[in-house]
Amino acid sequence: MKLYDTQSRQLKEIEVTRKQIQMYCCGPTVYRDAHVGNLRTFLLSDLIARVVQLNGSHPYLIQNITDVGHMSEDFVNDDKMLTQAKLEKVDPFEIARKYEAKFHQDLADLNIVPAAGYPRASESIDLMLTLIGKLIDADFAYVGSDSSVYFSAQKFASYGAISGNKLDSLKPGHRYEYSEDGAKRFHADWALWKAADDRTEMVWESPWGKGFPGWHIECSAMSLELLDGHVDIHVGGIDLRFPHHENERAQSNALINTEAVDLWVHGEHLLFEGKKMSKSSGNVVLLKDVIERGIDPLAIRLCFLENKYRSQIDLTWSSIEAAHETLKRWRMKMSQWGSEKSMQIDPEIESAFNTDLDTPRVIMRLREIEKSDSDNKASFFRYADQVLGLDLDRPLETKVLTPQMKTLLDERALARTEKRWADSDRLRVELENLGLEIKDTPEGQSWS
Ligand code: AMP
Ligand code: ZN
Repeated sequence: MKLYDTQSRQLKEIEVTRKQIQMYCCGPTVYRDAHVGNLRTFLLSDLIARVVQLNGSHPYLIQNITDVGHMSEDFVNDDKMLTQAKLEKVDPFEIARKYEAKFHQDLADLNIVPAAGYPRASESIDLMLTLIGKLIDADFAYVGSDSSVYFSAQKFASYGAISGNKLDSLKPGHRYEYSEDGAKRFHADWALWKAADDRTEMVWESPWGKGFPGWHIECSAMSLELLDGHVDIHVGGIDLRFPHHENERAQSNALINTEAVDLWVHGEHLLFEGKKMSKSSGNVVLLKDVIERGIDPLAIRLCFLENKYRSQIDLTWSSIEAAHETLKRWRMKMSQWGSEKSMQIDPEIESAFNTDLDTPRVIMRLREIEKSDSDNKASFFRYADQVLGLDLDRPLETKVLTPQMKTLLDERALARTEKRWADSDRLRVELENLGLEIKDTPEGQSWS
């Protein structure tokens, strides 16, 4: 099994012969609903885990819940959680629990297999304090004049290996994270622990005074603690390459004195109407919006699978609707292709999954199989669905034709023979409102 590693900039082999593969995926900041762009990234770790499983290893995935410390880009020194809490006029922890529950619902709707653990940043403060203390002792971190603790970027020789952003090319003046005017020794240093100042909510006692943790230390702490000090595959969206993953790598490697992560996988962005989907661009689509339109949420999953995870996707409502139709057609055909629930490996599909998760090639191959005269179509589809997760064996929804529907259908057939088109159109609408789809063919009307 091979995946593209952002750090070495090449495909890297994963030893699926080992019993367990340790995975970490950066989780949501729970101050708002996750949009389908965020979900594209969360789906990536699910797909990788499923391919690991397909190869006979056991994926062990940890995904953190960021409920403190993620600062807003719009307002310097404003925690995303606290900004939203003020807006909704409720306790920030209430906000966190509300959006965390919605995140889990979204994952379930997208048929994402739950991770082994979802640790919360706010419940891992002691762990972070211990690690920050160790970094100070090892001289990788220092207490600034503002009582915040900073990581000293220059102490970490290979800083920039993931993103290519080397320290000598990082200019002062770029707003890295916080406005720590003068408190840091070097402009690219970042806060591991931030002094509370006048902040009163979501603050904790520490050896350096009251404060709260930085966002990056959270992921070092949780991955090292819950994955026994080593991550085989680390997943996140492409925007996290810098500074988040660069800083996480510096912290983790400094703590354990070796490379903490074998393979960094980054998923490309989802666009909508040509722009990166984000709250600030105002082009956010939620999974809830898709469901409210009567579209199967797994149509979104199929849209993502039709594209390479390392390519941007420009999503449209028509591509989502087309995916919904494909899903319906495949499920109907699966039920027609036979009731025996057998499975058969297709070497091309297997190879595509194992070659940098080439899901578009898998989908193309399924379309070929669909049109072929193979006797084992359902078996191949079922094999692929172990990773695709499209629930292709879902029984078709069937409804009984009611006497009222039957009467309306007869009335409409009569109206058409008598060329009463207005009546025919009115009856079509009535039937559609009852859930019937009507098609007019040269042989007469048909319905489904
Ligand atoms: P957040 O909840 O803001 O911490 O983001 C959660 C994840 O979503 C991160 O891995 C981001 O890189 C990812 N992400 C944010 N916007 C997009 C997008 N438009 N397309 C794909 N992934 C995204
Ligand atoms: Zn992270």
